[in-house]
Amino acid sequence: MKPSLILLGSTGSIGTQALDVARKHGFPVRALTAAKNSRIMEDQIREFRPAVAALSDEAAAADLRARVADLPVKVLSGEEGILEAAALESDIALNAIVGIAGLRPTMTAIETGHTIALANKETLVTGGALVTKAAKEKGVKILPVDSEHSAVFQCLQAQPTNRALRKIILTASGGPFFGKTAADLAQITPAQALKHPNWSMGAKITIDSATMMNKGLEVMEASWLFDLPEDKIDVVVHRESIIHSMVEFDDYAVLAQLGVPDMKIPIQYAITYPERYECPTRPLKLSEYGTLTFFEPDNETFKGLPICREALRRGGLSATAVNGANEEAVAMFLAGKISFPQITQLVQEAMDRQPAAPADSIEHILEADRAARAFVRAAVAKGATSGT
Ligand code: NDP
Repeated sequence: MKPSLILLGSTGSIGTQALDVARKHGFPVRALTAAKNSRIMEDQIREFRPAVAALSDEAAAADLRARVADLPVKVLSGEEGILEAAALESDIALNAIVGIAGLRPTMTAIETGHTIALANKETLVTGGALVTKAAKEKGVKILPVDSEHSAVFQCLQAQPTNRALRKIILTASGGPFFGKTAADLAQITPAQALKHPNWSMGAKITIDSATMMNKGLEVMEASWLFDLPEDKIDVVVHRESIIHSMVEFDDYAVLAQLGVPDMKIPIQYAITYPERYECPTRPLKLSEYGTLTFFEPDNETFKGLPICREALRRGGLSATAVNGANEEAVAMFLAGKISFPQITQLVQEAMDRQPAAPADSIEHILEADRAARAFVRAAVAKGATSGT
């Protein structure tokens, strides 16, 4: 039977690739959601004919209603509209929203009992304790879409009993500035940071890859998904992005998952798990690469990874402060308001200001998120960070 989908964040990089997979296999799409992109959403509605579409932006939703007035689709608006879409009947809710805006929709989809295909790593970074607890109570599976976590998940299928897991090893491309010095980074422009060597992704995650914040967020995501402490999650820089991650067992056997760098592979696996089907991508031909290379991450120059490791060790709302400050700082960098090194400076400062407290409710998480963002905005307005 073909699994039906609710696709949250359908107009983005992961969302449109998820629709490539749905198109290839004829998976029914029950709902589509986005923030404001009514034009792309109209095309998606005309092709996939969902029962419901939702845009968080009210004006964009009104525009969409007019565009699809000839179709029997219900157009909802605001965060409430997105939550209503997340609670529709369906087999799988694939969350490809960017940022903490994905947290509530994930919780709603879990409470509804959907299997979750999770691209929105910020869900677990900020709400890991609540989300994993709710999923366990509801008997809901959270299947990773992030390529590294999908790779670990796939490798773990080889050891279904007695996990005997020594550690996991996440691979990192190193981003566009691998090998650069701290002095080089001061001059980086948004256009340079938006050019990723291997992956074509949304703007926020592309900048996160350049600061290594993405890998740090992934360490936090992996900690919740695989129930591992920070020191059991290694990172190795692998420039070619062919090995998507590895697991090491107690006998020192290491399993790796390989493939071309194309998100459609992990997206499709999260939808069709435990089955596999032909994917709309290309096969891996290792001889085209010749050599695969590996390096230690440069934690002195790229602060994103060590900051996230520290947040994970501190626990509670530290991760939320890091995530919120990072979302705000990335937006400011893209708007030309701060320099590239200031992104992680601001994130570090926001983490240090976050009082120790548990991430025990959505309200507390969203409050800490707002405080971290407000801190970043105020610091930039005052020119208070070093280098401003
Ligand atoms: P994009 O920016 O390309 O797309 C984001 C999607 O979320 C769009 O549909 C956007 O709508 C929607 N959206 C944005 N803000 C809101 C909001 N406040 N409320 C509701 N919807 C919103 O992001 P990506 O596809 O690159 O990334 C999505 C998630 O997947 C991120 O968490 C990222 O870390 C993760 N991920 C992405 C990978 C990739 O290859 N891109 C790889 C691994 C993980 P609109 O278009 O209207 O703005």
